[in-house]
Amino acid sequence: MAILENRVIKNRIYDVPRTCSWSPRDRSWDEVDTIVVHQTDSSCRDPETQIVDTANYHISKGWCSIGYHIYIDQNGEIYQVNNLKDRGAHAGNANDYSIGIVICGDHRLRDGATNEEIIPKKQYKALIWTIAHIQNAYPQFKKILGHTTLAPKSRTCPNLHISELVADVKKKRIIKLLTTWVFLGLLFGFIISIGRKILYYN
Ligand SMILES: [Zn+2]
Repeated sequence: MAILENRVIKNRIYDVPRTCSWSPRDRSWDEVDTIVVHQTDSSCRDPETQIVDTANYHISKGWCSIGYHIYIDQNGEIYQVNNLKDRGAHAGNANDYSIGIVICGDHRLRDGATNEEIIPKKQYKALIWTIAHIQNAYPQFKKILGHTTLAPKSRTCPNLHISELVADVKKKRIIKLLTTWVFLGLLFGFIISIGRKILYYN
């Protein structure tokens, strides 16, 4: 049940190495409508170390800091490493209108394997939750793409079935909506029943 899913996004925005700030002025937030999913292309390590190392690597390429906005480790822990409104450096020209979510790992697509069989279940659930969470908070994010869609020749990143991911996110959002309505219905019923008691016995 979505309502019982107690996830937190750990804020590491102010902890990652940074040589300059990516100002929201670098792009128009109104035009940001795409979530791009990546994999690190390297095995998962201690997430805090891997995030810092990735930031230093990206700085060595001349970027301000880690290029992604969200990092998800193999246990499903979620780390935010940049403000969503800031322009990242993860998908070429698409940086202007997208945010980047990276999952750690150097997994590969396998014929007949579902996403849950390609990466750890906990990590996949966290990815679905994160995208649904962002889309609920910011309905402007209409598109979910794999990096490979934007750079098909050079990359296979993120090596997940994107159509399956999109369908799973949609399911997650519907379940969340239904859960919210059921909760509100129960709450309303409870308030009415209390109200009736007060009316009859006071
Ligand atoms: Zn990528």
